[in-house]
Amino acid sequence: MKPVKEVRPNWDTYFMQIAVVVSSRSTCLRRRVGAIVVKERRVLTTGYNGAPAGIAHCQEVGCERERLQVPPGERHELCRGLHAEQNAIIQAAVHGVSIRDGTLYCTDYPCSVCAKMIINAGIRRIVYQGNYPDKLAKAILAEAGVEVVRLGGDSSGAGKRDPTAKA
Ligand SMILES: [Zn+2]
Ligand SMILES: [Zn+2]
Repeated sequence: MKPVKEVRPNWDTYFMQIAVVVSSRSTCLRRRVGAIVVKERRVLTTGYNGAPAGIAHCQEVGCERERLQVPPGERHELCRGLHAEQNAIIQAAVHGVSIRDGTLYCTDYPCSVCAKMIINAGIRRIVYQGNYPDKLAKAILAEAGVEVVRLGGDSSGAGKRDPTAKA
């Protein structure tokens, strides 16, 4: 059997693929999101969106945001779920892992609540894939100097950096 020749993904693509796998565990009725925090090319933590441990998922008991037809990006407090980025940050606290100066890979653009947490967790760079309509998040991430890069697309924030460079 001939070995299959596949293109070796670059680091950003590789870690985003991992974040996509993480998102498959999501229990959100609306959007499956995965996030991982990487430092020096090592995955430190992972998170997907869903209800806190031991609490019934929106899949089981329904979601207020879904019931009220809340538009995307609004009234997150109505949902019992935590966001993927929040779970990735919490996991770092639970295990006592410093994610300062890390890169967050997220399958979607972070919301403003997550953006605030990301800034204070000391994350320096965000790589995302899908878009999310949150103007406040964009504004505060830019103000805090967090580099935000859309995978295979535009870059904003603290300027472009070589994605293969050591984080
Ligand atoms: Zn929900
Ligand atoms: Zn969020």
